[in-house]
Amino acid sequence: MNVNTPPLATKGCLIAGQWRPAASGESLPVLCPSDGAPFAEIAAGGAEDIDAAVQAARAAFDGGDWSKLTATERGRLLSRLGERVAEEAGPLAALEARDTGKPMKQARADMVAAARYFEYYGAAADKVHGETIPFLNGYHVQAIREPFGVTGHVIPWNYPAQMFGRTLAPALAMGNAVVLKPAEEACMTPIRLAELAMAVGFPAGAINLVTGVGEVAGAALTAHRAVDFLSFTGSPEVGTLVQIAAAKNHIGCTLELGGKSPQILFEDADVEAALPVLTGAIVQNGGQTCSAGSRALVARPLYERLMADLAERFSALTAAPHDADADLGALISAGQKTRVEGFIGAAGGPSAPLVARGKVAEGAPAEGYYVAPALFGPVEQGDRLAQEEVFGPVLSCMPFEDEAEAVRIANGTDYGLVAGVWTRDGGRQMRMAKALRCGQVFLNGYGAGGGIELPFGGVRKSGHGREKGFAALHEFSQVKTIVHNHG
Ligand code: NAD
Repeated sequence: MNVNTPPLATKGCLIAGQWRPAASGESLPVLCPSDGAPFAEIAAGGAEDIDAAVQAARAAFDGGDWSKLTATERGRLLSRLGERVAEEAGPLAALEARDTGKPMKQARADMVAAARYFEYYGAAADKVHGETIPFLNGYHVQAIREPFGVTGHVIPWNYPAQMFGRTLAPALAMGNAVVLKPAEEACMTPIRLAELAMAVGFPAGAINLVTGVGEVAGAALTAHRAVDFLSFTGSPEVGTLVQIAAAKNHIGCTLELGGKSPQILFEDADVEAALPVLTGAIVQNGGQTCSAGSRALVARPLYERLMADLAERFSALTAAPHDADADLGALISAGQKTRVEGFIGAAGGPSAPLVARGKVAEGAPAEGYYVAPALFGPVEQGDRLAQEEVFGPVLSCMPFEDEAEAVRIANGTDYGLVAGVWTRDGGRQMRMAKALRCGQVFLNGYGAGGGIELPFGGVRKSGHGREKGFAALHEFSQVKTIVHNHG
């Protein structure tokens, strides 16, 4: 691993088309999770910077150059940005891997997805049609979709570049002016993507970015009275604060808060196809994925055999520095490592026996935040490992007796984001898809994160609102009804 490259310069915050240091003049170090060493600095933005960013977005939306663009022109800018991201995918992936600790292959896949968000929403920008509604004689009624105005976006550290595309591209496609507060743990690619957005010609103020800690910059953005809509991805605890802040200003918000997503294997499942997906869905990004497949529910007759196969796979998994391109990299921070190891250390008793562990690569820097993957089973439904989001490479397995019990266990947490169902029985596929309480169901497959075209979001503690697909264009706009009495 090349840890000796010089630190990257402080970029500052992007406000009204200009990069500037935080008003306080303060900055924060950026650590590489693979070795815990600082490699860059970011501005420690605060309330004053957020206020300037929101005012810049307001000006862009209320009569500025951004507000004058047609939907087609907005779409062209987004498409151009997608092309630039694709052209720069290599360096962007290297930056992402260094900033987050994820393996290079994962970072490269993330850049393909990031570019695709701009491509998809660039092409969609001028295809959101309103409706005409039959009404009384002598009337013509239209329901048109309008942007909110200024949208505030707070994103996490697990997929910084993808999150930038996922939350900003549909908001911009609809004509909103945006203010983004990326996560302080990993925001190097969002900064670079904002630079690229400026380079392809987004007008000043259309995209503003303020780095800084959540309790300061994030809280200031979500509480700002000139913000018209909020989009948040992160922990349920902060999601609650964001929803309260939105309520105080009487605005809407989307919340994407993670999950405890199950993959459910019936006795007729294609086990050979399912095995790599079961492992991949929890190891991808070190398990730090909101839609990680963190539970495996297995029909009793399959259970012993499946656990033996999974144990073999888990024992072979290795965590290593990002440029080693191993199964997984380091976790994002020392805090996240402590949190995940806390879950693993506290488990292992009769309600959650440890079945297998992978390893940390020999020679991985001791200062890096590595956690060896862990497989537990049979985990009792009341155990923490069956109920709480670990956000690490930890798979909890549990047997079930019949379809009704599978549904009960699957729906038996506070979360509801994604589910996978493995069965060849077509009737059972649809019954399960309808019975599961979550936002996405995969039948004979599982997608942790992918699918820009596919509406995505949760219920209850997983949040509300839908991102991705056309659903996001509706989420980032509101309907206005125009009633014309023409006689
Ligand atoms: P977090 O919720 O604290 O941080 C997410 C974002 O919110 C960051 O940009 C952060 O700066 C910001 N933030 C923090 N406090 C804020 C506040 N008071 N007001 C406004 N914004 C604020 O998440 P975390 O601490 O980074 O991770 C903790 C746990 O959250 C993880 O272990 C995991 O369970 C969950 N998580 C889920 C996702 C997801 O994709 N759903 C992503 C990251 C973390």
